[in-house]
Amino acid sequence: MRLNQIICRKCGSKAKEIILDRYEYEEGILICNVHAFECSNCKEFIFTEEQVDEMEKRTDLIKSEMLVF
Ligand SMILES: [Zn+2]
Repeated sequence: MRLNQIICRKCGSKAKEIILDRYEYEEGILICNVHAFECSNCKEFIFTEEQVDEMEKRTDLIKSEMLVF
């Protein structure tokens, strides 16, 4: 199923789906291969609710692994 078209909140242009090599959702915690949308006009990143949930889960996982040390 296709996602609804994502429209940039800043400029109203269409955003395309991209995969970020690295993204710092929370300061000091880098996650890899993050799905996101990028505005084709102003390069603003836009995340869907599912993408935010995924980033939160992965950030929490990294945090729990860091606590092991
Ligand atoms: Zn834009």
